[in-house]
Amino acid sequence: MFRKWHLFTPGPVPVAPQVLLAGAVPTPHHRLPEFSALLSEIRRDLQYLFQTRRPVFFFASSGTGAMEAAVANLFSPGEKVLVVRGGKFGERWGEIAEGYGLLPVYLDVEWGKAVQAEEVKSRLDRDPEIRAVLVQAHETSTGVKHPVEELAAICRDKNVLLVVDAISALGVYPLPMDEWGIDVMVAGSQKSLALPPGLSFIAVSERAWSRVEKATLPRYYFDLRREWKAYQKETTAYTPAVSLLLSLQAALRLVRETGLEKLFAHYALVSEATRRAVRAMGLEVFPEVPCEALTVIRLPEEVDGGKLTRLLRERYGVVVAGGQGKLRGRVVRITHMGHQSPLEVVLALSALGLGLSEMGFPVKMEEGLAQALAFIGERGKEVYA
Ligand SMILES: *Cc1c(COP(=O)(O)O)cnc(C)c1O
Repeated sequence: MFRKWHLFTPGPVPVAPQVLLAGAVPTPHHRLPEFSALLSEIRRDLQYLFQTRRPVFFFASSGTGAMEAAVANLFSPGEKVLVVRGGKFGERWGEIAEGYGLLPVYLDVEWGKAVQAEEVKSRLDRDPEIRAVLVQAHETSTGVKHPVEELAAICRDKNVLLVVDAISALGVYPLPMDEWGIDVMVAGSQKSLALPPGLSFIAVSERAWSRVEKATLPRYYFDLRREWKAYQKETTAYTPAVSLLLSLQAALRLVRETGLEKLFAHYALVSEATRRAVRAMGLEVFPEVPCEALTVIRLPEEVDGGKLTRLLRERYGVVVAGGQGKLRGRVVRITHMGHQSPLEVVLALSALGLGLSEMGFPVKMEEGLAQALAFIGERGKEVYA
């Protein structure tokens, strides 16, 4: 059959053909001089993307690897960290911290809500032993955006490190690492970087680097001290994911050509258009403070989310994500990340409307689509000028 899949999952995301093709060449050797030239271009462009003057390191792992690297490099056994836990990825910070023998203290946030910066501040006031705050910029499981800028200010004031999982946020909305004073920022390739899975990224502020030198947790592959030594010699400590780096070079060139401001404006536009459409259809946007990387939609009580996502996939080739953990079956998640043009989300919304109707829950589809189209048509004049 002439089946075409339209990927709207929050990782993996659609990848531009020229980015894929860039990696489809005979594998270059990673210790040759030409490869050093590639590395220095990539590293410079990553600094642009992270908005930092600090080195950005990468590993051959999924995003979780860089989260693990953050924990293993910054801390010593028994140290206390404050984990913002309002979704599946907040839980993961806690699991990694526990796995490494830290003492995570949890700030539990109701799923769908953003953490209150004030609450973080009062926790830090009450417990001076807390060394760091671990948080997501976008909690991809709920679609929430946490207030990173405010948290950064509080953490600097308290001399506590701020460790941000920006796996679904980097390049989607402004997260100027140096300007805001974010200590550690983590990213992954198959989310906002619009690449296939297999690369993770981490940058560490100067202030946090002194902790990397002193930390006593065990580490080997993820040891940033080894990577830094190699970095200074324009190489990597171990064999990097060579083909993916060729694709990364192409992806970062696209980012540079487009410019961060334009990228941010694109995501703001498409995510707002989607939220307007969802509400006009008579559905509910799940997160209270929604992020721009994806839209999480609450399903009517009676709808079986698993059945719905299967229907959209099998009937229309539209692949959306269901809920994770306690949101299983209760929400659908449509991503705006990756190689997508502005009107593609209309396809996802159309499939959602048709699917819900077929399952006996008709929505006001025409109103929804009209809202999205009007908004994109109007604002697009400026954003895509
Ligand atoms: C996807 C995701 C992760 C996990 O990344 P993997 O690449 O699957 O290891 C962690 N945090 C956030 C916010 C994510 O969106």
